[in-house]
Amino acid sequence: SYGPAPESDAEAQAWLEKHDRRFGNFIDGAFTKPGATFATRNPATGHELAQVTQATAEDVTAAVAAARKAQPKWAGLSGHQRAKVLYALARLVQKHARLLAVLETLDNGKPIRESRDIDVALVARHFYYHAGLAQLLASEQPGMAPLGVCGQIIPWNFPLLMLAWKVAPALAAGNSVVLKPAEYTSLTALLFAEISREAGLPPGVLNIVTGDGATGAALVEAEVDKIAFTGSTEVGRRIRTATAGRGIALTLELGGKSPYIVFEDADIDSAVEGLVDAIWFNQGQVCCAGSRLLVQEGIAERFHDKLKRRMDGLRLGDPLDKCIDVGAVVDPVQLKTITEMVDGNTEGETYRAETALPEGCFYPPTLITGLEPSSRLMQEEIFGPVLVSTTFRTPAEAVALANSSRYGLAASIWSENINLALDIAPKLAAGVVWVNGTNMFDAAAGFGGIRESGFGREGGWEGLLAYLEPDAKARALKPVAP
Ligand code: NAD
Repeated sequence: SYGPAPESDAEAQAWLEKHDRRFGNFIDGAFTKPGATFATRNPATGHELAQVTQATAEDVTAAVAAARKAQPKWAGLSGHQRAKVLYALARLVQKHARLLAVLETLDNGKPIRESRDIDVALVARHFYYHAGLAQLLASEQPGMAPLGVCGQIIPWNFPLLMLAWKVAPALAAGNSVVLKPAEYTSLTALLFAEISREAGLPPGVLNIVTGDGATGAALVEAEVDKIAFTGSTEVGRRIRTATAGRGIALTLELGGKSPYIVFEDADIDSAVEGLVDAIWFNQGQVCCAGSRLLVQEGIAERFHDKLKRRMDGLRLGDPLDKCIDVGAVVDPVQLKTITEMVDGNTEGETYRAETALPEGCFYPPTLITGLEPSSRLMQEEIFGPVLVSTTFRTPAEAVALANSSRYGLAASIWSENINLALDIAPKLAAGVVWVNGTNMFDAAAGFGGIRESGFGREGGWEGLLAYLEPDAKARALKPVAP
């Protein structure tokens, strides 16, 4: 059954209706006839939003062929000409900001405040920034050439933002793209495809194939020149193995269990507020979430008490409500995973926020204190609104605890002593370190991990270089099939 269309999402419902709530793939500048489809639902209500195509290996081949055909002409444009299209994309994202934000919230469950003020705003910024880089490319990186056709596979936690992180640099560099959104959240990618037509992006330069892991695996096997993947470490490992023998470029942005280190001289109120952002932003479904609290022993009790009171004040509910702090978890499968991980834990003390829990795909903000550093919940990514905590005595112990993880994506340090913070920062095994802050992203700053959090950077020149290779002529020397 389809949900009622409250006034606040009438525009999104009208857009879905315009497409008869059935979507094909977007190949060569047009939507294909829907094939076998599956439902995509609003996790806050369980209502079906639309049917989306499960793209087959043949669909993927067709998308790659369209991308292959379109790429040389796109790469042959001057940086300035490509920049004009990227600027148009940025402006149109702003023009359609409300529709994009509401559709993202309906499909993903994240609070509208976040999709409107953070996701969509960062997407526009990403295209503006890469329009600038496209114009600078010839003078700043002479002798570099695009890779060709890029296969891009993204997760469901920031559907539109992850698309922007992948598509903007690829297009700026002169590549063409076949992108597969996550199966839970395909809708904003399909709307973006429509917007790309309005922006004047030539047909075939951006193609979207929808579907689950099988479609992703078909894209990995296809005749592409690069795979860019963001998602779980487990799937990343599989993709690395699958591409190992083919010599194609690969970047992997994977999971994390990022430490949030609070020293006893920290501004406690700010550190508590930072934690709300670190672990309850997007229901904790953030790769770089500050999900592992390390708090200095002397202030631990006071800090936990303050945090619990703040947790009780968090409002859960309809993600379209502008006053909501915590929205719905993306899907019942994810909710079950979180529930099982927390219920299966017998260590430490579990505190659940005393806040009204709506029916549906919601999980209460949760804090688990007194865990051993080696315990499962301290080591494994929960990917939900669950914070785990342990204490440390000395800065050296904080560093050792922070680094005792197979991941290395991000870290936060909270201290009013800048000497201490700057001494600790370079000792942390993490791709990104924030001091007295968390979850700060910018298109100009490379983002990515080390260890099992993956390799490669997205954003900045580093991110653009990952879509380029030296000397266009070298490509002609590659073996050509007889
Ligand atoms: P996932 O790995 O299950 O899925 C990610 C994408 O890969 C989806 O589009 C999925 O359909 C596809 N996929 C699944 N199996 C595949 C296969 N065998 N071959 C090719 N593609 C396949 O991850 P998820 O649950 O969607 O996302 C959550 C994970 O993503 C978390 O671990 C999170 O930390 C990570 N993440 C990392 C970053 C980062 O920048 N490092 C950002 C966001 C999310």
